[in-house]
Amino acid sequence: MSTIGVEGYVHSIEVGSFVDGPGLRYVVFLAGCPLRCKYCHNPDTWQCRGKMSDADSVLKNIGMTAEFLEAGDGGVTVSGGEPLAQPAFTAALLQGSKRLGLHTALDTSGYLGDALTDEMLVNIDLVLLDIKSWLPDVYRELTGVEVEPTLRLARRLSDECKPMWVRFVLVPGITDAHENVEGLARFVATLRSVERVEVVPFHQMGRAKWEQLGIAYELTDTQPPTDDEIQRVKDVFEAHGLPVDDGRFAPCGPVAARG
Ligand code: SF4
Repeated sequence: MSTIGVEGYVHSIEVGSFVDGPGLRYVVFLAGCPLRCKYCHNPDTWQCRGKMSDADSVLKNIGMTAEFLEAGDGGVTVSGGEPLAQPAFTAALLQGSKRLGLHTALDTSGYLGDALTDEMLVNIDLVLLDIKSWLPDVYRELTGVEVEPTLRLARRLSDECKPMWVRFVLVPGITDAHENVEGLARFVATLRSVERVEVVPFHQMGRAKWEQLGIAYELTDTQPPTDDEIQRVKDVFEAHGLPVDDGRFAPCGPVAARG
C-alpha cells in the first residue's frame, strides 16, 4: 500500500510524550470516535473533523524527529479519539513509521478492531488496548457501545502474539465492582501477549471540556478512587499473575487535557 494521497483528520500532535507507549513518543491523535465514555477527557475528538492532513506530510515531520525518538528508545503512537475510525489513514501512518525504522504503537478501545487488517497488524509493534469494563451492561452504560468487539480483538492479538498493554480505568461506582474487576482480570490472564496492565484512576480533569462544549456531564459527583481502592484492584490483577503498573493518564487525547 502506498501512503501517497492518503488523507485524514488529525486532532492534534504531541512530540515528546512519555506516557503513550515505551520511551519517547511522537503521538498523532486522530479525530473521530464512536464511543461516548462518560469520563472522556477529549469529547472534542468525537467528531471526525478538524484539520485534514495528508499522511506523507505527517510522516515527513515524524522523519525529522526520528533520531530524537530513537535516542529516547521510543517511536510513534497513533491514538485518538479512536484511530480505527480512520483505518486507511492510520494504516498509512503506521506503515510509513515502520519504513522509517521506528517502533509503532496503536492506542485503541478495540471497538472497531474488525477494521484492523492483517496488513496493518504487521506494521504495529504494540497495541495499547483500553478494556473499559468486563460486564457487558456496565460497558454499554459507560461507553454507549458493546464490549464484545474489544474482547474479540484482544483474543486475536493474543492468538497472533502481538504485544499488548491493557488499560483499565477505575471509576468508583461504575467499574469498581469486584465481579467486574475479577472477570476482567480472569479474561486478561488468558491472553498470551499482555506485557502489562495499567490501572488508571478516574479523575475530574475532563469535565471542563464537556461544559465548554455544552454536553451534559454525568460524573460531577463521582470522586477519584482512594489509594486503597486502587491497590485493591491492582491486587486482583496481580492475583491472576498479571504485571500491573500505575496508570499514568486517562485514555485518549493530548496530554494537556489529561491533567
Ligand atoms: S475516552 Fe477515548 S474511547 Fe472513550 S469516548 Fe473519549 S476518545 Fe472515545
